[in-house]
Amino acid sequence: MVTYDLSAINSAVTKEDLSKRPFNMWRYREMLPIENEKNIISLQEGFTPIIDLSALSKDIGHLRLYLKDEGRLPTGTFKARGASVGISKAKELGIRTVAIPTAGNAGGAWATYGARAGIEVYSVMPFDAPDVCKHETSTLGAHVYLVKGLISDAGDIVADACKKYGWFSIATFNEPYRLEGKKTLGLEIAEQFGWDFPEVILYPCGGGVGLVGIWKAYKELRDMGWVDGPGPRMVAVQSDGCAPVVRSFLNGSTTCEKWINAETIADGLRVPKPLADTLILKTIRESNGCATTVSDAEIQNAIIRLARKEGILACPEGAATLLALESLLSSEWINKNDRVLLLNTGSGLKYSELMEESAHFLEEGEFITNIQKNE
Ligand SMILES: *Cc1c(COP(=O)(O)O)cnc(C)c1O
Repeated sequence: MVTYDLSAINSAVTKEDLSKRPFNMWRYREMLPIENEKNIISLQEGFTPIIDLSALSKDIGHLRLYLKDEGRLPTGTFKARGASVGISKAKELGIRTVAIPTAGNAGGAWATYGARAGIEVYSVMPFDAPDVCKHETSTLGAHVYLVKGLISDAGDIVADACKKYGWFSIATFNEPYRLEGKKTLGLEIAEQFGWDFPEVILYPCGGGVGLVGIWKAYKELRDMGWVDGPGPRMVAVQSDGCAPVVRSFLNGSTTCEKWINAETIADGLRVPKPLADTLILKTIRESNGCATTVSDAEIQNAIIRLARKEGILACPEGAATLLALESLLSSEWINKNDRVLLLNTGSGLKYSELMEESAHFLEEGEFITNIQKNE
């Protein structure tokens, strides 16, 4: 993990300085691992809005409810954060070729920043990854290899290829820079809440980079004296079709067993054995958080509620956090006055295949009847 001289940062920059900088994640450059600013590869990513879910809060009966919308980022998901820092650092280190196993979204993100940096990207993803991710990644010029298996199988292929060809592996937690990118999520949350953290953050957990990253942001800001208090209680949300972290959390174990027959519509959560299992479980416990599952059928329903009540077209991973909120409210794990932040990690537009099921189109006859009714 990257460590910083926090007191040096503290004397180099103030909250006041920060507030005058452009609204993207590179405003926190002192807390990111790039030595020379010339190496920064950016599309102005970051500082995504935090939105008040006022209609849903009334329905649910919990008033202090917010959603950070990462669907607004380049590439449509929060993978852009890790990729921007990761590719910038790769450039700084003189790396020419990187390889990544991905469920889909990370492939698109690294291809995007790779293209901008002139770094070659090899992306290995499951054959049943969303079409939009395959097409996106390939259009951006990365080499796309489709594997009959899951992201863990893709991981084995990448590890072998990197050994054989000397490519740089950017698999989750294989290098420390991707985590630094996701850390900016936590830095932004703190700044957007007025240098404070909400009491509870609900995170859709796949490889766990964002979860660990937000907690790292909290600890660094706390050690710098920029925030105080116990920090956010971090909740890992998984699908009941692939919930290795939840199972280990409930068992009291410190590592994860591989989840057999992992299956969920939330592709980003289909990680049968996260590489950073120990770190994820440690983070949840250290923050006084918890881990909980939701079902795929409910996720579909939550996507529609977020869309029709709030006008937010969420990804299935993000929609899962709404369900987790409801179950944690009914078990009273979340208190009435807690500020709760849901993370919508991507745009629903990347999941058009999922929306097909709930889409309804009027027949010609229906259309005419409707018009007459309205007259
Ligand atoms: C990758 C991904 C996740 C999970 O992120 P991790 O950092 O691997 O836990 C959640 N949502 C979306 C949309 C993703 O692409």
